[in-house]
Amino acid sequence: MEIGRGDVDRVAGWIDEARPVDGRGGVTVLTGAGVSTDSGIPDFRGPDGLWTRNPEAERLATIDVYLRDPDVRRRSWRWRAQHPAWEAEPNAAHHALVDLERAGRLRAVVTQNVDGLHQQAGNDPERVVEVHGSMREVECVSCDHRGPMTEVLSRIERGEDDPDCPSCGGILKAATIYFGQALDPADIGRARQEAEDCEVFVAAGTSLQVYPVAYLPGIAAEHGARVVIVNAEPTPYDEVADAVLRGGVAEILPALVPGGDVTG
Ligand code: NAD
Repeated sequence: MEIGRGDVDRVAGWIDEARPVDGRGGVTVLTGAGVSTDSGIPDFRGPDGLWTRNPEAERLATIDVYLRDPDVRRRSWRWRAQHPAWEAEPNAAHHALVDLERAGRLRAVVTQNVDGLHQQAGNDPERVVEVHGSMREVECVSCDHRGPMTEVLSRIERGEDDPDCPSCGGILKAATIYFGQALDPADIGRARQEAEDCEVFVAAGTSLQVYPVAYLPGIAAEHGARVVIVNAEPTPYDEVADAVLRGGVAEILPALVPGGDVTG
């Protein structure tokens, strides 16, 4: 589908008018794996997605399987060590959200991504809500130890295959939300608040199939925000959106920032 220039201009106009005042208004952007595909990190459900190509991969991030099966943990650490995120650079979509922040329109980036590329691009970490956690850290499942992933990957390089917690000897995992785990109530509470308080809610590069995050566009709409969906494929929320821009996020998001233009 071709994006109508008129649609882009209409949405850019809404965003230009959306200035946060007294803690309300502004733009909340929900991002998904599609925002990082142009940085070389595959999504899950797109045509080249990890799940689409290898449904078995899901097991590596399913908490009860991970906890009971050391072989799954060994495979999971090997997979993490080779993850494309370690070499990835932010792309034009990430940079557009930094420009949106500099233009004074951004309330928050609520991201399902665990790759840390929004902060790497230059968004204020205080404005980034990582509802599915971060792959740049590890946590122990038995105590409150947290530490950098780089240290654990160095242990893997030195020959360990299932590195244990340096504090208590427990099982370590990436500090991301595995299947079967609950989201952090503080993070999802903040995400909800940012959806309720914004004037424009943009969902970009997400299939909107993972809950409770997928409720956020509906929550934003109920609280009076304009809802915009930017995605390569249809989503279940296209019907409730005020505008749907179908295409690449790295081309569309820069065109929505005040003073921006279509690139790429
Ligand atoms: P998803 O894979 O379910 O959906 C991604 C969507 O983005 C698809 O509809 C696809 O068509 C679209 N897309 C892909 N590339 C695009 C592009 N360049 N421009 C526009 N649209 C594009 O991803 P999701 O909705 O984020 O949910 C999957 C879960 O996967 C999340 O919970 C997230 O934690 C995790 N995940 C994260 C990463 C990452 O951190 N980069 C990567 C893969 C999966």
